[in-house]
Amino acid sequence: MHGLFTTERRKTLNPAILDRLAAIVGPAHLATSPEERACYAYDGTGQEFSPAAVVFPGSTEEVSDIMRLASEHRLPVVPRGAGTGMSGGALAVAGGLVIAMSRLNRIIEIDPMNQLAVVEPGVITADLQGEVARHGLFYPPDPASSKFCTVGGNVAECAGGPSAVKYGVTRDYVLGLTAVLASGEVIHTGVRTTKGVVGYDLTRLLTGSEGTLAIIIQITLRLVPKPPARATLSLPCATIEAATTLVARILQRHTPAMLEYLDATAIDIVRPLLPQALPEETRALLLLELDGSAQGVTAQAASLRDLLAGQPGVLDLRLAASPAEAEQLWAARRALSPAAFNLRPHKQSEDVVVPKSRIPELVGFTEELARRHRLPIFTFGHAGDGNIHVNIMLDRDHPQEREEAQAAKAALFAEVLRLGGTLSGEHGVGITKRSFIALEIDPPTLALMQAVKRAFDPLGILNPGKIFPPAAPGDPENH
Ligand SMILES: Cc1cc2nc3c(=O)[nH]c(=O)nc-3n(C[C@H](O)[C@H](O)[C@H](O)COP(=O)(O)OP(=O)(O)OC[C@H]3O[C@@H](n4cnc5c(N)ncnc54)[C@H](O)[C@@H]3O)c2cc1C
Repeated sequence: MHGLFTTERRKTLNPAILDRLAAIVGPAHLATSPEERACYAYDGTGQEFSPAAVVFPGSTEEVSDIMRLASEHRLPVVPRGAGTGMSGGALAVAGGLVIAMSRLNRIIEIDPMNQLAVVEPGVITADLQGEVARHGLFYPPDPASSKFCTVGGNVAECAGGPSAVKYGVTRDYVLGLTAVLASGEVIHTGVRTTKGVVGYDLTRLLTGSEGTLAIIIQITLRLVPKPPARATLSLPCATIEAATTLVARILQRHTPAMLEYLDATAIDIVRPLLPQALPEETRALLLLELDGSAQGVTAQAASLRDLLAGQPGVLDLRLAASPAEAEQLWAARRALSPAAFNLRPHKQSEDVVVPKSRIPELVGFTEELARRHRLPIFTFGHAGDGNIHVNIMLDRDHPQEREEAQAAKAALFAEVLRLGGTLSGEHGVGITKRSFIALEIDPPTLALMQAVKRAFDPLGILNPGKIFPPAAPGDPENH
């Protein structure tokens, strides 16, 4: 925005600015060497854009002072959690400063009586889940990256995971935020109570804003009681159609805590990690988790058995024999994304959503897409909420494959919108979908969103080059 890409990108900072940054955070918390900057130049997309410097603030005041300095010098600023984002949100595409949240990583409060937690943005999601579990509480949002991504990154992307089918996504747990605006001012949004309707809901606006509106520095999260019992079931199916059709049947009668599916290629990728061999005819796999009271889980499992007995294409229904076996199944599912690089060195990972009833059509379409573009394309994902991960595998050094992959992505997005879906359920727009956002969002709505961006960040310094369509030819995209 605002011509950042028409001027030379900010690859270096003048010594006076560096001195002032060092004075704000302390010299030990400013990184300027090429080696250090390289560690903050990438994210889950595999693309790289080096910032001119990386700062590691240790307090709200420091973040505020950094933003005042950035405003004074029109410096691009990119907030960064763990850099696991899949849409390029944490990439310093315009150079400038990366603000790393790794020192702001305290769990400030866990309040069992009011079922809430207050945390800094750099807390690792799984660490928070482990900590609240010690109080008998549960923080459900469970991106597959939970062992290394941050709560701040989750809020900025509105991350979700397998448990969304029953428990919803990050936004359903964010009660309130403290954030620093581009100007350096500190704002407080939301409440510490279950209800609260005073003023506009800025908490929801900031949740999923991909670091473009404000820097989140404190998060108040709603927690729920930890379900005492869980059971994991695996359901090998003879065809992908049988598996995806079963999803709708299951959801008519049950609300599993997770309901995931893997297609035949996805199964091949993780087969060595599965606890038991699958029947030879398996072409799709459903994984379910049930949770609740011990009695309730047993009753649900029995009822599922009745529902699924004799359904066409069901090869088996297996109940994991132990928590260790269940964990092995879910670990295999979580390993799928990284393990896919066995197929090709690069991956375009799309996380489209369609109405649940249209999943079979979408999956059929991706199979056709793979044939048409002669690329390995496999799908897996959160069948329970229609959020399907479509993975287009390619070699980016191969020009023809790059072209085919771009064409496949465009065709996929057109089909998803035709089916009544949305382009992203979890990963956000970032740079990888900014050329496509106008396909989904109509011009007046997009213009309003850009006006909101200007209201928060009039100079356009906060995470520039993200979400909105490229302003100039040559702006960074998904390469
Ligand atoms: C193997 C793997 C599996 C994944 N599985 C899932 C999944 O199941 N579900 C899912 O939703 N995602 C998934 N992701 C994507 C990614 O983990 C999530 O988007 C996660 O929320 C990013 O968190 P992060 O801390 O890495 O943020 P980063 O990648 O560092 O940043 C992501 C965005 O958040 C912004 N940001 C970060 N911190 C702040 C802050 N404090 N204030 C303002 N903006 C901020 C950044 O500017 C950027 O735009 C996966 C990624 C990988 C690599």
